[in-house]
Amino acid sequence: MTPKIFDLTGKVALITGASSGLGRHFSKTLSEAGATIILSARRVDNLMELQNELKGNSHVFSLDVTSNESVENLFKEIKKEFGSADILINNAGVNDTRKFKDLDEESWNFVLETNLNGAFRVAKSFTDLLLAQKKPGSVINIASILGLRVGLNLTSYAAAKAGLVQLTKSMALELARSGIRVNAIAPGYILTEINDDFFKTEEGQSYIKSIPMNRLGLESELDGLLLLLASDASSFMTGSIIPVDGGHLVNPL
Ligand code: NAD
Repeated sequence: MTPKIFDLTGKVALITGASSGLGRHFSKTLSEAGATIILSARRVDNLMELQNELKGNSHVFSLDVTSNESVENLFKEIKKEFGSADILINNAGVNDTRKFKDLDEESWNFVLETNLNGAFRVAKSFTDLLLAQKKPGSVINIASILGLRVGLNLTSYAAAKAGLVQLTKSMALELARSGIRVNAIAPGYILTEINDDFFKTEEGQSYIKSIPMNRLGLESELDGLLLLLASDASSFMTGSIIPVDGGHLVNPL
């Protein structure tokens, strides 16, 4: 049972990119804490499967964060069904592991369009609705330790996540007096279906040794922070960018 301070009963939480990986896990965690969940992503069939696994109330909506029209349609539905939502988990994201010399404008734009512009688009519509109704809310942007440091072959991803870190702080500053809190989780390497194969390889195993805790994180190890930021337990927190990374960011130089 969720401790009372983290209880989300009566709250509506929108999760983008809920069809796999962390978004799927976050949906389960927030549902178990009592929130009504709005599952959104492009792969609606995956969302319907997830909906069957959730014990609490949930709703499925198709969403492509790279499309203004798709975001507008989602918020029209949210307004119609719920009036507004209380919590946004801005999670949809893509990766590109090309070397800088091999990047082209198309691949750069693809990552920036999803990870930064898409996150902006959803956060803007979410907060516009709250501002119009004078309601409080909590935005949790899923950034990355790559928004704070760089790594090889991750230029567009690191640039987009750094932009998301600054978007988080700017929104926090301007929306604080309206009762809308904006924070970011900066995960290190968390084991998901997507990276499972890589981390089983020799290269992956040797990379893990560079993490001070000498292991990958588990999805469940983001739960404490997720519930803290989503609930009133963090009522005096805004503009915080919090790493969960097994000490990766404090690697010795
Ligand atoms: P994932 O690929 O399983 O999840 C990404 C989700 O975003 C998928 O459901 C995908 O369908 C969705 N998505 C992609 N483009 C979209 C679009 N245009 N519209 C709507 N949905 C879209 O990977 P993940 O590891 O679960 O990543 C989730 C978030 O966590 C991402 O923002 C990622 O950058 C971030 N992150 C992950 C890790 C990690 O180690 N797994 C570490 C740091 C940050």
